[in-house]
Amino acid sequence: MEAKKFFDLYEPLKDDLEALSKYIYDNPELGNEEFKSSAAHVALLKKYGFTVEEQYLDVATAFRATYDSGKPGPTICYLAEFDALPGIGHGCGHNHLGTVSTGAGILLSKVLEEIGGRVVIGGTPAEETCGGKVVFADKGAFDDIDVTMISHPYNKDEESGYSLALNPLEFTFTGKPSHAAAAPEQGINALDACLATFHSINALREHVLSSTRIHGIIKEGGLAANIVPERAVAQFYVRTTKKLYNQEVSEKVINCAKAGALAAGAKLEISQFEYPYDDLLTNHRLQAALNKNLNALGIVDINVPKGPAGSTDVGNVSYVCPTLHNHYNIFAEGDPGYPTHTREFADATLLPPALEAMKKNVVALAMTGADIICDPELLAEIRAEFDKETAVFKK
Ligand SMILES: [Zn+2]
Ligand SMILES: [Zn+2]
Repeated sequence: MEAKKFFDLYEPLKDDLEALSKYIYDNPELGNEEFKSSAAHVALLKKYGFTVEEQYLDVATAFRATYDSGKPGPTICYLAEFDALPGIGHGCGHNHLGTVSTGAGILLSKVLEEIGGRVVIGGTPAEETCGGKVVFADKGAFDDIDVTMISHPYNKDEESGYSLALNPLEFTFTGKPSHAAAAPEQGINALDACLATFHSINALREHVLSSTRIHGIIKEGGLAANIVPERAVAQFYVRTTKKLYNQEVSEKVINCAKAGALAAGAKLEISQFEYPYDDLLTNHRLQAALNKNLNALGIVDINVPKGPAGSTDVGNVSYVCPTLHNHYNIFAEGDPGYPTHTREFADATLLPPALEAMKKNVVALAMTGADIICDPELLAEIRAEFDKETAVFKK
């Protein structure tokens, strides 16, 4: 669909969208406490005719907003984040991110009468902490979605890339206390079990793919030097480039903990202290469709990421639905900008270059949604790539 049509549709929306981003910037809320931010998104979506399920999936600040043309066609989903960081407010720019997704959804809804299909905005809390999208992915929120898009503000334009699969493992060792000098033979040392686990994991590092990251801490390691430690707790993140390989490495890490417990005679409990994240499976056909529209709007210098760094809950979405998670530049051309998770980045989300980036990215995302609805062949190609990438997990 033509860019001009979407730019014309954007103009009457502009003030509402910029006000939403500013309001969320002014009211930064931590993960799962985003009551004002979630309510502000919901109010705007209702104003533009969306039907909204609030407290979606029993998560207090989650929502799912739908605009249905009533005519057949695919369902396009945009994901909104709106959580802030402690101490630095919207240093990750989620005020901008949530607004861009919501804006794209509203813009696309304006043409659905003409082209059919549905658009859904997923309001997903707590990206910075405990990954609200994991609940969405696990509980079937994407079962009726054809394509999911989320674009993150940044200091350059960058294609959707990779993220690491992450398994947050917690090991609790239980021994038996006793006087460490008078009767050490009667004690079972939980800290020894924990230390042996660290040593075995350090040996394991030599025999895993070099892209693997296993990093951990001792949360509890005893109460006093003259008591044989009864309880020790260690937490590890096991990160790998692929979900399947993560299962293999996690098994080996668990074996290290079992060996540590056995050596010390301690009992071992294994749990996950946060949600596990899957690696991000970027749908490249979908990214190419977005690139075509970004290019048409003059955004041509789009970086291709080299490799994964962190982990994101968008990974879990990407294993249940064709997904992209790209980045867009909120700074003026030639301005190096600031890294995310800084106060300077938060402040930049309100400046004119960021508002211009908001407009262009809202339009490009809406255009891409419309392209997918209008072009069954494009959707079939996106779907085929997704089926191929996830085949190994299908029964
Ligand atoms: Zn962040
Ligand atoms: Zn972020």
